[in-house]
Amino acid sequence: MDNTRRLLYLDAMGIDVWVSRTDHGVEKGDVSTDIGQPETVASTIDNNLDEWQIFQEQVAACQACSLHETRTQTVFGTGNPKAGWLLIGEAPGHNEDIQGEPFVGKAGQLLTEMLRAMELNRDQVFIANILKCRPPNNRDPKPEEVSACHGFLQRQIQFIQPKIILAVGRIAAQQLLKTDVPIGKLREKVHYLDKIPVIVIYHPAYLLRSLLEKRKAWQDLQLAIKTFRTL
Ligand code: SF4
Repeated sequence: MDNTRRLLYLDAMGIDVWVSRTDHGVEKGDVSTDIGQPETVASTIDNNLDEWQIFQEQVAACQACSLHETRTQTVFGTGNPKAGWLLIGEAPGHNEDIQGEPFVGKAGQLLTEMLRAMELNRDQVFIANILKCRPPNNRDPKPEEVSACHGFLQRQIQFIQPKIILAVGRIAAQQLLKTDVPIGKLREKVHYLDKIPVIVIYHPAYLLRSLLEKRKAWQDLQLAIKTFRTL
């Protein structure tokens, strides 16, 4: 991707692209062209995809917590099951519950733009949630729901074996890292989950409401890129 297109993507995110080099040492627009490609090649012909399909069917039939009573459908996750990048959000919302995909609607579009700014598309990452079913009225997940669904996320991580995880939003970050530290103190650091680096980023729905935080969001993505390059 040439620099002009990359800057257009950043502009689409509403981010001021004319910012000097940050303390993370990655300049805006200075994004490697190979951060997503190696893991995508031939991934769809992996023999283990039969297992992946069975896994999806198991999730779709799950009744391990009460959320199965109110869901339209489970939201397993989408993308490349052998991607180097795994994005983990909180839970499906209204649109996701209807469409059966994570991060759709305006927040999903912004997430897509954030990925494009990193020279990634949705086929080069896998996007999942802590919960596979929508909590009614988009309330926060209950501990017993997170506990009931935890095994599915663990299996996804074990199957995908991502090089890096992006924890998208406060609740995902706190659940993954098992902490109640505010997101503002979790970002700008490299955490680890079973030796996999975890970068905390703001939820795109929050960014849509908090335009001033978009600059920080880009800083977080830069940290993710920089970390990925070191792997
Ligand atoms: S949220 Fe997870 S554990 Fe609960 S019913 Fe849905 S798939 Fe099963």
